[in-house]
Amino acid sequence: DVFYRQLPKVELHAHLNGSVSSQTIEKLIKRKPHLNIEHSMTAIGKGQRRTLDECFQVFKVIHQLVDTEEDILMVTTDVIREFAADSVKYLELRSTPREEKHTGLTKKGYIETVIRAIQLCKNEGLDIDVRFLVAIDRRNGAEVAMETVALAEQFLLSSDGLVVGLDLSGDPTVGDGKSLLPALERAKNCGLKLSLHLSEVPSQLEESDLLLNLPPDRIGHGTFLHPEVGGSQNLVNKVLKNNIPLELCLTSNVKGQTVPCYSQHHFNYWYQLGHPSVICTDDKGVFSTDLSQEYQLTASTFGLSHETVWKLSQQAIDCIFAPQTVKQQLKQKWIELQPQVF
Ligand code: 5GP
Repeated sequence: DVFYRQLPKVELHAHLNGSVSSQTIEKLIKRKPHLNIEHSMTAIGKGQRRTLDECFQVFKVIHQLVDTEEDILMVTTDVIREFAADSVKYLELRSTPREEKHTGLTKKGYIETVIRAIQLCKNEGLDIDVRFLVAIDRRNGAEVAMETVALAEQFLLSSDGLVVGLDLSGDPTVGDGKSLLPALERAKNCGLKLSLHLSEVPSQLEESDLLLNLPPDRIGHGTFLHPEVGGSQNLVNKVLKNNIPLELCLTSNVKGQTVPCYSQHHFNYWYQLGHPSVICTDDKGVFSTDLSQEYQLTASTFGLSHETVWKLSQQAIDCIFAPQTVKQQLKQKWIELQPQVF
């Protein structure tokens, strides 16, 4: 539908290596034929589902394909161009800096390359403002988390405002959030905004409670926060009290089987409460989707009018991590692009 394609959008939850399109995967496979990686190993097609565990295996395959600065530069520029072509006007990309001994890739070089790609796209004149969140993979533990925060801190000061925050992600069934609290507190204190994957699977009540006390600036997924699915009113109250926006990724949750079907997605719970929620893709490559599709799916599943969808995309501006001046510019852009009639 052309309405959704043309709708100006804000994307706040996109993992770089999960966002790689099939065209870019094709180019990567050609660069590394010896790996014997096939396309079917890097994306989950229409109607297909995987367990969350299987989804995390897919990232390992993609990481094998993306292990040099050259790869990161290509992947980042391609992903940004694709979001821009989908009328995304503001994008926050997130990625876990990796060190690869066999190619000489360092974590610092990783982040520098992502920043270089963002600047390249800026110079191309694409109509998209891109920022970066440095990601912590929870499986790597407290020490690595602290190192990552130190690195992110350096870039917060030296990246001309491109690095704005920190993400906590990775397999939610591995590692424990409590041990990461000192690193997250340090990040918060130095001015990095925090977006944390929270209650993505059941039985993380205690951890979510601790992490909500920080409090984070945004929540990724929050699938099992509310009492109807085994969460608690206490958790919901903390989210409401601090007015913490949620980043919601419908296709990702259905394909990863943490949500049984679209109509039971927790978008509805939070939407009914009038709580700020932002529709996002999570991993547009892995889950074979894009942000237009996610908005359209949300609208058709929950019966939202075009006007309501417009408001939803507009309200996302208030949830971005870039400074107030950027919010103002985006709000102006939305006013200019708003159709006379819906
Ligand atoms: P990268 O950080 O390498 O750019 O993107 C892939 C990584 O993002 C994965 O290895 C994983 O740590 C994280 N990730 C991507 N999608 C999800 C998700 O749905 N849930 C969680 N918890 N982590 C994810």
